[in-house]
Amino acid sequence: MTQTKIGADTPQPEALDAATAKAKDGDIVTCDACPVLCRIRLGKTGACDRYGNVGGALTRMDPVVITQRAADSSGALVPFAKGSWDGSLISGANTFVTGIGAGTTYPDYKPAPFIVSSQVDGVDMVTVVTEGIFSYCGLKVKIDTDRYLGPEQSAVRAKGEQVGHVTTAEYGSQMLSLGGVRHLTGGSKKEGVVTCDTMLALGNKEPVELTIDGGSTVIVQAGQPPVVNGVKEERMRVGCGSATIGMFAPQWRHHADEVIVVDDHITGVLTEHQAGRFLDMRPAGVRVRGRKSTPGRYFQVANPGTGWGGTDISDPLSILEKIDPKTAWPGMRLLMVSTTGEHAAWFVLDKDLKPVAQPMPAPIQAIVERIGENCEPALCSVLFMAGAGGSLRAGVTENPVRLTRSVRAALTRVTSGGAAVYVWPGGGITYMVDVTTMPDKSFGYVPTPAIVAPIEFTLSLADYRTLGGYVDHVRPLASLKDEPRIKVEPWTEGNPWPLQRSPIK
Ligand code: SF4
Repeated sequence: MTQTKIGADTPQPEALDAATAKAKDGDIVTCDACPVLCRIRLGKTGACDRYGNVGGALTRMDPVVITQRAADSSGALVPFAKGSWDGSLISGANTFVTGIGAGTTYPDYKPAPFIVSSQVDGVDMVTVVTEGIFSYCGLKVKIDTDRYLGPEQSAVRAKGEQVGHVTTAEYGSQMLSLGGVRHLTGGSKKEGVVTCDTMLALGNKEPVELTIDGGSTVIVQAGQPPVVNGVKEERMRVGCGSATIGMFAPQWRHHADEVIVVDDHITGVLTEHQAGRFLDMRPAGVRVRGRKSTPGRYFQVANPGTGWGGTDISDPLSILEKIDPKTAWPGMRLLMVSTTGEHAAWFVLDKDLKPVAQPMPAPIQAIVERIGENCEPALCSVLFMAGAGGSLRAGVTENPVRLTRSVRAALTRVTSGGAAVYVWPGGGITYMVDVTTMPDKSFGYVPTPAIVAPIEFTLSLADYRTLGGYVDHVRPLASLKDEPRIKVEPWTEGNPWPLQRSPIK
């Protein structure tokens, strides 16, 4: 078990977790904050580096992150300026205690490390704050790119270990499902460790290189453009090939005789498409490869890849099956373009109806550039998904199902590091949160292996009492001001304020 030397500049906080027993054995303390039960020598930290033996006391080594909104002289809320906090935590309505650094409880029945009360609009509110240890958790990763990352269901690997798989593509994005209990616990020890490392890094907004069996290598970082096979992606496609035809058909109408928008999923052919017909465009007689879905919409014109429109082609003419001499004509003008406008070529048919590449006319070039202008920047999105199970719910109330019901009834608001979460319908408290809305370094780990993530439950004190909460452990927010292990951060703008009364009844 790793034991890290605590550096000279390591803060010497007091142990905050009174609920955590400290079994002393000479200079050794046993950490019981997770099932690993590290025995930690004086001046060292346990396997996860979160707890240490400071002066013989078991101590959570990181600060508890408290976020605060500030108010101007008129009372209006303004963003908190970092470093401007005067040490006062009395302004309860504008202060929120997150689970980051709060500590974990094990076994499950122990009350959460912090159960904090504050007054909001004259109503006593409670926030139950903890760090959850999640064996059941994963990441849903959305990668804005048309480029082919790999076959659906393919293994996604980090450092050679499978840490997830490719799941169904969405509109303009490739999706990965990473982590989960099977990779954490169901494979080799190395697979579990690498899975945990990968989730930890991605949750903490760090870049991770992933390789996909039968596909690409991609560097993923939350909030940043993906890098596919060494190339930074810039644009998310404007739509599928058919949608692109639908959007730009009137602009092409007087400048081209045919436009083919190359797309791995649905390639569009203007004059055959309803958009071209509606504009009374003359049929051009160009037939593309693949399977016709509906007029002007073709599936599988090529194999998926990192070329034009997410296909494997570099020569757009390779997807032309035939040019009908009864319909096409010499001099016919043909634009071939991808769904991002990144690839485009202009052809004019010669006397033998053979497409000959020509310089692109300015009006056509302008429309191609407009496709690019309408593409949003390509980004990676990382959503952490987990289920608040035994230790979390039992740390809130002796009657855990009442917490679930309270969340369902919108009496209790769930947040993660103060960030809003989406709670799935159905049983349990299964939630998702965008890691970019959480403070930096929100996630930790324990070597079971499992991910440690902050979670907070906010509700009125009256409702907390009703659901059988640990009211004897409620402490006023102001009592935190003397704690040595507090770090105040500005509230993340854009996040709904968790202590806001509505929709909490
Ligand atoms: S791994 Fe578990 S037992 Fe060891 S220090 Fe971390 S929380 Fe404590």
